[in-house]
Amino acid sequence: NADLALYAAKDGGRGRFRFFSNEFLEAAKDRRILEEDLRDALAKNELEMHYQPIVCTKSETVIGVEALIRWNHPERGPISPGLFIPIAEEANLIEPIGQFALRRACEDAASWPGELRVAVNVSPIQFGNEALPEIVEAALLATDLKPNRLELEITEGVFLSDSSETDAMFASLKNLGVRLALDDFGTGYSSLGYLRSAPFDKIKIDQSFVRGATEPGSRNGAIIAAIVALAEAVGMDTTAEGIESLDQLDLVRKLNVSHIQGYVYSKAVEHEVLCKMLEAGDWMIEPSGPARQRDERQSVYRRATAIHEDHCYQVIVRNISLTGALMEGLVDVPLGTRFVIDLGDGQIAVATVRRSEGIQQGIEFDERLVSDGSGGLCTRHRVSQYMLSLAGLSPEAVNIAVAPTGKGKGRTKSLPTFKVAKEWNTAQSYEQAA
Ligand code: C2E
Ligand code: MG
Ligand code: MG
Repeated sequence: NADLALYAAKDGGRGRFRFFSNEFLEAAKDRRILEEDLRDALAKNELEMHYQPIVCTKSETVIGVEALIRWNHPERGPISPGLFIPIAEEANLIEPIGQFALRRACEDAASWPGELRVAVNVSPIQFGNEALPEIVEAALLATDLKPNRLELEITEGVFLSDSSETDAMFASLKNLGVRLALDDFGTGYSSLGYLRSAPFDKIKIDQSFVRGATEPGSRNGAIIAAIVALAEAVGMDTTAEGIESLDQLDLVRKLNVSHIQGYVYSKAVEHEVLCKMLEAGDWMIEPSGPARQRDERQSVYRRATAIHEDHCYQVIVRNISLTGALMEGLVDVPLGTRFVIDLGDGQIAVATVRRSEGIQQGIEFDERLVSDGSGGLCTRHRVSQYMLSLAGLSPEAVNIAVAPTGKGKGRTKSLPTFKVAKEWNTAQSYEQAA
């Protein structure tokens, strides 16, 4: 248990502690089950490759696709590669999975009309295997795919290991005539030194630079412009990843990014769908998407506890976005009121009321939420169950006063400041809302 808590602390970054909680045990068990299921899926040929178009900014035609692995779990449904690839890497499964992805992508690409390129992701573990050039060569020979139609996407993680071996690996891959792309640029090791020598043909600018780039005051646009200038100076292409809205598309075009990949053109599609799209010859996709990127507002309803001075109130929060939410359950709360919102599972956010109408308040979080990695949002930090129960915030503690700290100590318990909405029968409203 201590070991699991240690891992959780390490995952959270430097200089922090974690108390063990049963969730860690559940998560570890879950991971082991998933690992077994993944082994099974590989053996039963249940993994598939889907393909996402990459569009040339100048000609506005699709010049290549990225092969993205898909796993449709028989009970759980689709599982994100963001979740199972790291499991495969730890469980010695990345080699066979990587070989499957490479072989299938080359096979499929060889069947396409024209010269469309296919990009395949290569894990740093595969890159560390000295047999990789032979594996790639074998896939090319077996499928009769021209080497210059294959692009290997490598992340900055490969530069963490011995540099002479890394250089030798780059040289042998380049010798095969394949193209090399640096994936997720700007998220990892990000030393510019390796751009001097590593023979990349393309830099893929990570989605995190695109997010928020169109918001006023964002520096992301300037960073993208700098990456493009750098890439052009050393003769590399650029791809902006994760373009979802038309204003983002407009921005990256203006910044002279040479290639664009994102939902604004298409998500990754099955091989059969891709083949149909290819039949028409030169492939152009009309961009479509929201005019602007909006905060990922989520219309889910969550029970939460709003803490004000020494009282807890049970409320419901909905329309949660990165920066705020709508809170329901208290009447006539003045603008500017500060609440501590307990969203459950140790997620505590401090928020200020910015709009107030009857039983609804628009609240703004002090610190932006972050993606929880599975389509939801969560607070950047979590407070351990132990600390929560010390503060009287166990799940049963809803609607009872928090022990006042500091100056309030020892005074008689004050009355709640806010009225709970009369029509607010929590259980009932919650069900209605849900
Ligand atoms: P990646 O290589 O950076 O792939 C791009 C990811 O961004 C894909 O996620 C893609 O679906 C997603 N994406 C593309 N356009 C948009 C957009 O407009 N908005 C948003 N929100 N997302 C967009 P996916 O398929 O879930 O893959 C996640 C990661 O898993 C990949 O990141 C890659 O690192 C890894 N992966 C996927 N397939 C393979 C594989 O065959 N082998 C290895 N080693 N890794 C893989
Ligand atoms: Mg990639
Ligand atoms: Mg990427």
